[in-house]
Amino acid sequence: DKACLIVSHDRAFLNATVSKVWELDLGKLETYVGTFDQYLVERESRRRLAAHHYRHQQEEIKRIEEFVRRNMAGQKTKQAQSRLKYLGRIKRLPPPRANASGPSITFQTSGRSYAHVLRLEEVTLGYGDTTVVERVNLDLYRGDKIGVVGRNGSGKSTLLKTLIGELEPIGGDVKLGNNVDVAYFDQELSDLNENATVLDNIWELDPSAEAGAMRSFLGRFGFSGEDAFKKVMALSGGEKTKLCLARLLYHPANLVILDEPTNHLDIYAREALENALRDYDGSCLIVSHDRYFLNRVAEKILYLSDGSARVYDGNYAYFRERTAGVPEPVKTRNAQPKQEYIDFKEASRRRSRLKKEIQTTRDRIGRQEKKLAEVEHTLDTGVSADDWEKLHQLSDRRRELEDDILRLYMTLEELEATELD
Ligand code: ADP
Repeated sequence: DKACLIVSHDRAFLNATVSKVWELDLGKLETYVGTFDQYLVERESRRRLAAHHYRHQQEEIKRIEEFVRRNMAGQKTKQAQSRLKYLGRIKRLPPPRANASGPSITFQTSGRSYAHVLRLEEVTLGYGDTTVVERVNLDLYRGDKIGVVGRNGSGKSTLLKTLIGELEPIGGDVKLGNNVDVAYFDQELSDLNENATVLDNIWELDPSAEAGAMRSFLGRFGFSGEDAFKKVMALSGGEKTKLCLARLLYHPANLVILDEPTNHLDIYAREALENALRDYDGSCLIVSHDRYFLNRVAEKILYLSDGSARVYDGNYAYFRERTAGVPEPVKTRNAQPKQEYIDFKEASRRRSRLKKEIQTTRDRIGRQEKKLAEVEHTLDTGVSADDWEKLHQLSDRRRELEDDILRLYMTLEELEATELD
């Protein structure tokens, strides 16, 4: 019942605790009332509204400037002068940000692997004579995104080390599908050369590549301009993580194994990584304590506990729901891979239909915005000020297009919300 001020990147934690959110951005403090998720929705609508206001103000400024230019020397000099004064007085709105979440990250696959990417059959994990997890059964199909959870010491890292071949299983079979290229992200960020520059850390992966191509590749991970020449030891944890991801993704893979990838990332970088993984058509196995991240990315959860492993066919919220009040997981085999595969295919068909619809809507918005720009251009330059009929016609057309664009944005918003559910 006392007040708390919490600084955190853990969105699930914030969602479960706070009733207000303060966001520091571009040197300003913006306040929101509500949970973290409510803040995200409200922030989006404030940004959209701000962009709308900005566009209208720009149009108004353009119109007034045009009036001033045409009439300064004519009979309407007085009106032109007072409008010029008005122009000097109005408080100009800042332009909307090009990309609110910072640079985006894109994962590429190395091509098609077989549908069955990985199979663990009765695998016992551990070190020498010490068993850590017994009889793990797991099937990973193309496109599967699996989150691995469990308390500290439950064997998550041991599992990953076994999958990448750093550790031999004590028993059982680990089978990798045909044409599967594995990329591994290590939470210790240990594969970075601390004394070399950001650029050199990427260049060493492909020494014959052109500098320009390297620089633009780094730009996709937020290293632009001079950033490429920073020494790795001078980077923040978040920057190092992004560099590791860049190294990981330089050579496309179709199975990525990530160990606590969000540890050093701020919320914007987490969102970028989430979006990249959601759009990725390869498979992922992700160890993470970030519940919000797992909810958005993982479609299955592998839960390690008390020396055994169990698969839950849903996201983190589903796993929590199923394990609420069940301290001891029941040991079972990963049943009916066939039915699982059929469900997976159906879900992925639904996802790709939705994606297509989103793309079509975006394309229509693009086309309508182009038409709008043409109408505005004609209004500004191609019509004589006396041609009222034409002006009216064009203004009506402009309003029609603006309404249509707004409607399309609302449709897009609904589609995107469905995609998130
Ligand atoms: P998690 O990643 O889930 O926190 P780990 O896989 O790191 O758990 O560890 C699982 C268990 O294996 C722990 O009891 C840990 O002490 C033990 N362990 C980890 N590394 C080694 C090792 N190199 N040799 C022997 N035991 C180890």
